[in-house]
Amino acid sequence: MPTRGRPGASGADGDGRALPPVRKSLGQHFLHDTRVLNRIVDALQLSGGETVLEIGPGRGALTDRLAERCRRLVIIEYDRALAKMLRERYAGRPSVEVVEGDVLTTNLAAAAGGPYVLAGNVPYYITTPILFHALEPPRPARAVYLVQREVADRLTAAPGSRAYGALSVNVQALARAEFVAAVPAGAFRPPPKVESAIVRITPLDRPAVAPEDEARFHALVQQLFGMRRKQMRRIVRAVASLDAGAADAVLHRAGIEPEVRPETLAPAAFARLLAALRATPGS
Ligand code: SAM
Repeated sequence: MPTRGRPGASGADGDGRALPPVRKSLGQHFLHDTRVLNRIVDALQLSGGETVLEIGPGRGALTDRLAERCRRLVIIEYDRALAKMLRERYAGRPSVEVVEGDVLTTNLAAAAGGPYVLAGNVPYYITTPILFHALEPPRPARAVYLVQREVADRLTAAPGSRAYGALSVNVQALARAEFVAAVPAGAFRPPPKVESAIVRITPLDRPAVAPEDEARFHALVQQLFGMRRKQMRRIVRAVASLDAGAADAVLHRAGIEPEVRPETLAPAAFARLLAALRATPGS
């Protein structure tokens, strides 16, 4: 592997080679804080034998660390100039594969070629699509992301809390979401306008929703949170065109009190509601 120094912020890497220009339209904010980089790697809980997929390696600060800690590393970078730079950097290292392309149109499991772990300081303009793309089966064993602080709060929010909403339910129905650490804007160059945080998403062995029901589940959750201040009886009447008695029967089957609001329900309750609505003729 070629030896190289630390990439600089001044437009040149540690060996004095010019770095490609920063493309803000691609959400490019490069991490330079060693503690944050190490925290992301630690949160992946690698044993050394894994295949790791990295989304958006950028100038490779996280990539360098990951390459030392896994058996195989596949990195997916959209920016052609950065992908070229990374191909050159890892040319002598066969365990690192550079994929130049859009992560959202890349089949992640196929790129990994088997079980994998996912890492990414992701571009914030497509955080949610990336999260759900990576939750399509076959899912990674776990994923560690650096995301906007506000998104991290929503991903990890508990029922009844202010940040709990459709994103929380749709992710938590499929995975455990953990808040790992807050990250200040100063950890990046150039710094983003928002604070960030590291989160770990671990797909559940037994998700609350089957893959074939996910689209309907997401739509139902979105609909319910569109009426988050209303009681469940009113909501079920509206979404399923039922009278109050029939709505109460659906809710009873789902184990949900008619007077509660959707923002207090756990992800499993939404899944039971979907099943109960399915079993109700005409709903
Ligand atoms: N991982 C690097 C770091 O921590 O310094 C860079 C992180 S930067 C926030 C996001 C990276 O994702 C950039 O390198 C950007 O070019 C890349 N990117 C943006 N859109 C992408 C896409 N659709 N597919 C793959 N990579 C993308």
